[in-house]
Amino acid sequence: MDLKDFELIYNENRVSISDKQDIESKLKKIVGVNNVSTKDVDLLAYTKDSTLIAFNWEIEGKIAGLPDFITWPEKTEQISEILKLANLEKIPVIPYGEGSGVVGGAIPLYGGIILDMKKFNRVLEINDRNLTITAEAGINGMNMERYLNAKGYTSGHIPQSLYTSSLGGWIAHRAAGQFSTKYGKIEDIVMGMEIVLPQGEIIKFKTIPRASTGPQLDKLFIGGEGTLGIVTKATLKIWPFPEKRTLISYAFPTIEKSFEAVREILREQIYPAVVRIYDQFETARHFPDNEKAKEKVMTIFICEGNSKLVALEELITRNTCEKNSGIDCGENPVKHWMERRFRVTETSSMPPYKIVFDTLEVASLWDDAANIYHNVLDAMNKFKGVLMITAHVSHFYPNGVGIYFSFGGVPPRGITDLEFYQDCWDTTIKTVLDAGGSIAHHHGVGINRSHWMDEEWGNAMNTLRKFKKVIDPNNILNPGKIYKRTWEERGEN
Ligand SMILES: Cc1cc2nc3c(=O)[nH]c(=O)nc-3n(C[C@H](O)[C@H](O)[C@H](O)COP(=O)(O)OP(=O)(O)OC[C@H]3O[C@@H](n4cnc5c(N)ncnc54)[C@H](O)[C@@H]3O)c2cc1C
Repeated sequence: MDLKDFELIYNENRVSISDKQDIESKLKKIVGVNNVSTKDVDLLAYTKDSTLIAFNWEIEGKIAGLPDFITWPEKTEQISEILKLANLEKIPVIPYGEGSGVVGGAIPLYGGIILDMKKFNRVLEINDRNLTITAEAGINGMNMERYLNAKGYTSGHIPQSLYTSSLGGWIAHRAAGQFSTKYGKIEDIVMGMEIVLPQGEIIKFKTIPRASTGPQLDKLFIGGEGTLGIVTKATLKIWPFPEKRTLISYAFPTIEKSFEAVREILREQIYPAVVRIYDQFETARHFPDNEKAKEKVMTIFICEGNSKLVALEELITRNTCEKNSGIDCGENPVKHWMERRFRVTETSSMPPYKIVFDTLEVASLWDDAANIYHNVLDAMNKFKGVLMITAHVSHFYPNGVGIYFSFGGVPPRGITDLEFYQDCWDTTIKTVLDAGGSIAHHHGVGINRSHWMDEEWGNAMNTLRKFKKVIDPNNILNPGKIYKRTWEERGEN
């Protein structure tokens, strides 16, 4: 099959490049002949990220977006040169980590140059006294964690996509790991960064535990989603590998009771590394044989670290769960989760049945958490074509939560996959905003949420747009993401 046989979903505004051969030879001069490709097989590999709807398209012979060049730079200076060339020629550049993003962030909507970061894969330093690791931004998550574990440390950042995501991708999307309740999200873990700005300038934010040196400009690049700069290196916090782990699980009669228990635990400044609340539908799906959890809300905890502290954390966690009508379900549910925590067969099995499936995470204060959960379920259950809507809650703070919804359905007759998908997203997001929540907890904005950013940010969004214009006047870096006002606007440059 030839590339031209595939239908291109985002085709309207591909940037036309008059002399492709000339650009290709200039790119080869910058990164070397082996680090540039225009072969169909390579172009095809970079047409999408892991946005689930794109798997449905793949089966139907459709491509999300088609790039023109794939590059694998090896040095920061090469990235700077590529960006200077791209500005001169007005060609988009799309940074690419491992393509595990699930909001379309790495899809080349306008074509252009894919800047694959995989050759930025080295650990540069571990500092035991400062408890830091410095690594290149393209490093694979699992490789970095294994390296740390072998030396007796952990970064505490263990996303489900650990095997298939990169440090730069985590920073770009403000990622959250499964152990985030103790170690924080990536924005709590990053301490310093090197960035290449859209016009090629290289800047560094030094590694320091805290500073009082004016506004924290570095924060703008955490969550920049490849639109404001390219992260080439970062320094992260690390921790000694936990001495002890305790596995705890309780089944609660309602999600409200479970929320109360976890809220009270965190209020005591007890931070289990893992806390996961499964609503009754996900409890039935994941723990079907657990009699104690029948029609209940399974909640699992892992406390880890210094043995004495873990013993105290366990005691307070258990007492608080029992005070809130929790029924002790033992270690097995946690072991079950540990064994399966990187498996995602459920999602990839849907597209062959033409089911449109996706997950969508949001954030809220404790005040709004239960309302958001119930309102989203009500709104989605009323939606024609929706077959399932469930949730679990897996990121907790003393002040609130990150809620993770999963939905699946079949588009009613006359409605395309994409329209149905967009309607499901919009229904959920509108419901969350109406109930006082935030539209994203850790997957980022990408394509799927960009048209909600004005509602999310209010008029502060205009300031962000102005900043983007100043820093990237030619709109070279990852155009079509974050700043657009409508789904359709993605097709405009
Ligand atoms: C099965 C599965 C499980 C997942 N589990 C989690 C989870 O537990 N927690 C979580 O937070 N997310 C999760 N995700 C989402 C995804 O893994 C994260 O968004 C991750 O941070 C993306 O990293 P990546 O390297 O694959 O980035 P990509 O998908 O390649 O890119 C993501 C965005 O970052 C930009 N980018 C990439 N590298 C750089 C760089 N060096 N500099 C600047 N911009 C860059 C890209 O342009 C794009 O906009 C999951 C995804 C899947 C498919």
